[in-house]
Parts: sequence; structure tokens; C-alpha cells
Amino acid sequence: MQESATLQMAQRTRELRAAGKDIIDLSLGEPDQDPPSFAIEAAKEAIAQGKWNKYPPVAGYADVRAAIAHKFKRDNNLDYTPEQVLVSTGAKQAIMNTVIALAGPGDEVVIPAPYWVSYSEQVRYTGAVPVIVHSTLAEDWKPPIARIAAAITPRTRVLLFSSPCNPSGAVLSAQELEELAAVVLKHPGLMVISDEIYEHIVFSGKHHSIGALPGMADRVITINGISKAFALTGWRIGYMAGPQWVIKAANKVQGQFTSGANGIAQRVTKACVEADPGLIAGLRADFLRRRDLVLEGLKAVPGWKCNIPDGAFYVLPEVSACYNGQVRNGDDLAMYLLNDAGVSVVDGEPFGAPGTVRISYATGDALLKEAMARIASAVGKL
Ligand code: PMP
Ligand code: GLU
Repeated sequence: MQESATLQMAQRTRELRAAGKDIIDLSLGEPDQDPPSFAIEAAKEAIAQGKWNKYPPVAGYADVRAAIAHKFKRDNNLDYTPEQVLVSTGAKQAIMNTVIALAGPGDEVVIPAPYWVSYSEQVRYTGAVPVIVHSTLAEDWKPPIARIAAAITPRTRVLLFSSPCNPSGAVLSAQELEELAAVVLKHPGLMVISDEIYEHIVFSGKHHSIGALPGMADRVITINGISKAFALTGWRIGYMAGPQWVIKAANKVQGQFTSGANGIAQRVTKACVEADPGLIAGLRADFLRRRDLVLEGLKAVPGWKCNIPDGAFYVLPEVSACYNGQVRNGDDLAMYLLNDAGVSVVDGEPFGAPGTVRISYATGDALLKEAMARIASAVGKL
């Protein structure tokens, strides 16, 4: 496995800041807002109750799993029983559990690109081969469904993607998901991991779950969590739901790796999934305003090109036109911006998008404006 490119850049940023450098961090995909106060209250109450200090069941507390099953019905029209839900230490662990449960040596996992950095590395860890299906800026960073279909072979076990997408912000429409489901249904052994952690951050239209489409309930594992929608990245809770046999296998994996997820954070999760999803409107409005601010700022960066992403909190500009003798790739460019402009972004290559950098705009408006000005000035000097 490669080291996580996002976490590596976040660590470099921390180190430079600790050394007194002024760095604007656009590297980490982490909402800067405070979590809702009800989540903090739920944690305090859980601690005060004194009942949640022991090992939780591996799959999560029964009432938390039931609340998550209810959330899936309410928000996503997905019919899962509580027994079909597993609570994990972040969506990252939920995906890893599933990949380990489903894929191994000799298997292939189809991953439309650009994709979240950890997908390919988690697949490699199991000995399976990640099969990357590329796309372009002109395609709004969405590989046409026929290109995805053409990558499926008799060895393909899993199709793994996120919509809204990290790192491109692309959102699959209801029609695109229907076309994708039709492809999956042609291959009886093929399972889908649908990572929906950005479901609430969609700017136009609506988020759709592929698992809710006819015939797909037995084929889809839906991943979600509290990190993004509730600005609770540090509490480390994600969850998954899917066919019973997959949940059983994932439970076995988790039971040997980490056991049940943090008990107090599970109580917070119950409060989050029971809350009115309308509460997240403020967070979404912040991100939409910031997206537009960043897109406006990017217009002033010589040679960079960007589309208009419809969700999540990332933009993925194509930047290769600014490369020169010293800055020859996205990694060089990210290092140049970090050291010379004091702005941290992540190279697009480990996301399957060479020639790009990923900008996370989950930070304050004033800082974003300053960061865009610094980038424009630094790139102008190349
Ligand atoms: N999936 C995607 C697409 C992500 O961007 C992230 C990182 N924020 C995760 C999963 C993992 O989230 P967490 O482990 O914080 O729940
Ligand atoms: N997922 C976020 C990101 O893409 C957080 C870091 C990570 O876990 O990769 O930046």
C-alpha cells in the first residue's frame, strides 16, 4: 500500500505550522464548522450516564443500528433491518471491512476515476487488483457508463465508487445510477460498494442511492457516516448496510481488527441519524458559497481549468499547463504551493487524476480568498 496522500499532506501542513509557518490548509477533507450542539450534548449525556464504558457489541449497539436502519429508509428509501447494519470506526473502516470481506487474490475491483485515495490502496492490501476506469474534465470527471461496463471481466468482484465524489465533487444522476444498476444486474457475482458519505452535500438536484433501485438490494453495500454531515471527523464513526452475508463477514473482519466502535461516539451517532436532515442546510449553504468563491478565484490562476462540481467540498482543477522544468507533476506543484505560497493542496495523481490537484474548500471564506490569491500569484511565477 501507498501512504494516504491526503493524510500525508495534512501531516506536512501540521509540521510546517508547528514550525511557525503561515499555511492555509486546503488539503484535508474536513468541515471546519463546529458540530451541532445536540451532538456535543449527546456525548456529555452518554458520559454522565456511565453506561457506555465497556466493550460495545462488535456490530454496534442494537438501538444505534436500528436508528441507522430507520435513517436509511427515511433519507434513502433503503430497506435494511437493524441486523443488516454495522457500525465502524469511520466510513474508512466500513469500506475496508467490506473490501476485505469481498475481494482477495485473483479478484478485480473496478474503480471509476477520479476516486478517493484509499480505495485503490485498500483493494491492493487484499491482493486483489484495482481496475481504474479513467475520465476527463470534459466529462465532468464521470466515466461514461459504457466505459465502466467494458472494464468488467469474469474476475470482477466489486464496483467501488462515491457519489458525490471525493475528489471531483461529481454527482451521479438518477438516470446514470439506473444505467449503472442495469450493468451490475447483468453480472450475477458483482457487488457494489456505494460510498454516500457526502449525501447531504449536493447543490442542485438530489442525492440518490443505487441500493434502492429494483433488484439492487442484494447487490449493494451502502456506506455512510457522521464525519462530513455533522462535522464530526474526530469521533470516528461510519456505518455500512447490505446483504446479511456481507454484514456477517464484515463483522468477522471488524471483530478481529478493532472490535466494536467507540461507545460514546455511537451514542452521538444515534442523535445524529435521528436528527432532522434539514438541520444540515446551513452547512450545505456554506459549502455552495465557498465553491463559487473558489471557482471565481481559480479564474485568475494562469493555465488552470476547472468544471463546476455539484457536490461534496472539493474542486479538481486541471493544472498541467503550468508545469515547467522544476514543477513537473502534481506532487511538485503541491510542494511548490506549500513552500512558496503557504497553501496546502493534494496532488491529483493518487486519486487517479494525474495533471490535477485537489482543493478542499471546507474552510472559512476569508482564508479561501487569500489562498486563491496566493495560488494565482505563485502559479503566475512559474
Ligand atoms: N469516503 C470518502 C469518499 C471520504 O472522502 C472519506 C474521508 N473523509 C471517507 C470515506 C472516510 O470518512 P470517515 O472515515 O471519516 O468516516
Ligand atoms: N477523506 C478526507 C480527505 O479525503 C480525510 C482524509 C482521509 O481520510 O483521506 O481528505
